[in-house]
Amino acid sequence: MNKIQRGALAALLIVIVVIAALAPAGIGFLFAQRSQRHDEAERLNTVAKAALYRAEDVTRRLSGALGEIGKVAAAPCSPPYLKELRRIALTHEQVRDAGAYDHDGRWQCSSLLGAVSAGVLDGLTLPPPDWRSRDGVMAWYGLSRLPGGKSSLVMGRNGFYVAADPSLYVDTLDANDEVASGVAIINTDVSRVIATTPATDANAILAVYRTAPPVRDCSPYVVRRSVSMPLAVVVSAPHQTLHQRLRTLPWGWLLGGVVVGLVFAGWAAVFLVRRLSPRGQLSDAVRRHQFIVAYQPIVDLGTRRCVGAEALVRWKYHDRIVRPDHFIPLAEHRGLIQAITDQVLDTILLELGEFLKRYPEYYVSVNLSAQDLTTRRFLDVLGPAIVRQGVRPAQIRIEATERSFLDADAAKEVISAFRDAGHAVYLDDFGTGYSSLSHLQNFRIDGLKIDKSFVDTVGQDAASSSVASHIIDMAATLDVQVIAEGIEHEEQAAYLHARGAQFGQGWLFSPPLSAAEFIRYAGRTRGA
Ligand code: C2E
Ligand code: CA
Ligand code: CA
Repeated sequence: MNKIQRGALAALLIVIVVIAALAPAGIGFLFAQRSQRHDEAERLNTVAKAALYRAEDVTRRLSGALGEIGKVAAAPCSPPYLKELRRIALTHEQVRDAGAYDHDGRWQCSSLLGAVSAGVLDGLTLPPPDWRSRDGVMAWYGLSRLPGGKSSLVMGRNGFYVAADPSLYVDTLDANDEVASGVAIINTDVSRVIATTPATDANAILAVYRTAPPVRDCSPYVVRRSVSMPLAVVVSAPHQTLHQRLRTLPWGWLLGGVVVGLVFAGWAAVFLVRRLSPRGQLSDAVRRHQFIVAYQPIVDLGTRRCVGAEALVRWKYHDRIVRPDHFIPLAEHRGLIQAITDQVLDTILLELGEFLKRYPEYYVSVNLSAQDLTTRRFLDVLGPAIVRQGVRPAQIRIEATERSFLDADAAKEVISAFRDAGHAVYLDDFGTGYSSLSHLQNFRIDGLKIDKSFVDTVGQDAASSSVASHIIDMAATLDVQVIAEGIEHEEQAAYLHARGAQFGQGWLFSPPLSAAEFIRYAGRTRGA
């Protein structure tokens, strides 16, 4: 992964983690707001219910008083009649005034101002009513030309009337109510505002009433209609400052959201880092068996016939092939190498099992790491696997580098065990470590692989140009085989062979091949 890709990945990671954190917190906030509005609407509804009850009650009482006037037996506007009116006005606390008018709406008498003959009412006429019911009840809203001067609500029938203070309708709401800021009562037959609390904009209320918002959580108004009378009440929520809103916000939701968000973010971070880090991706590759094996032919330098192959693992990462140098050290470090070694073996047996069974003279050598050489684990996997496949032990060889001899005693024992089981063991990259020579002395091995760096200098004037030749001599003394690695030129092959190296491997003969290509290659050199 290059720098740009890593940067993009880190950015993506941060974005995902932030979303994981913010989404639940945001949802928590939305729920908190919803819950707040829902509670608000509930409270508004309660106010609306009480207000409607009050409006119906006042209306009922006024009609009751009106009914009583109708029953007065005395001649209209006679002194006993006026007395009765005063009695009615006094006994009904909602009634401010009661009286009579003629067919043309001209005032005849009033409980407050007496008969028209007294002069005050002379010439006063009621305007056409604002509302008229089917059974003849009429209402005037906000009539101020009445005796007493104040704006009144007047209900009349058959020539007599009662007048009331309209604020009676809305006196359920006290001035500093925190739940609602205004109440308005509306006559629904004619869409007229009957009464409002002070500082309530009647037009705005009417507009709300006309659009009739359903009792939704988010509406700042509640409209409630009477089922028995043409009345409705509109209650408006008080305007709250942001501070007030925040103060009454149910913080539990938000807090819950934040906690869930943090848990989510933590989880996402761990998950993504695991998944997207090289280590996570490598574990993923192990889990998904994303490794393939290339086979580089090993040839007899004398006959140039193929004798076997070295299995070289590759990681198939999407449509890229990752070379082992890029992931083997990480796999070793993260304890994933043994699983990879097992997968390499499985692949070899799957791809070349039949071939090896059929041609017992060929072998495949497997590269082992330090962890594979500290216990007999791999040997215990290898043994039964080749038996199942009908492959002979000699056909699977082991390559171990000096690096894998860190725990020398354990490695010695495991190497002996491999050899006892019939698997030849080679010392890989010979000459590159500090103590190749001493290993050669201390470990019983079958051969060594001269590192490419010494093959490269063959034929050159460099001081190291004769190292390969010395290694070959030493191997002959110790009676171990030599495989020269990384042979790219014919002169190198000829020189190494002349010096006594029996086997070679390198691009001169073949690069690493697929299994099918290797089988073809082996066939070609067999026929040669
Ligand atoms: P190695 O064991 O020394 O393998 C030989 C490496 O040299 C291979 O590289 C091979 O492709 C390369 N090579 C062969 N001939 C030539 C040549 O003529 N010229 C040049 N320039 N290169 C040549 P590769 O496949 O990249 O493997 C690198 C190393 O990764 C191997 O070095 C080995 O140490 C390790 N490795 C490969 N497969 C495995 C495995 O299955 N398990 C473990 N533990 N290590 C592995
Ligand atoms: Ca090797
Ligand atoms: Ca090597």
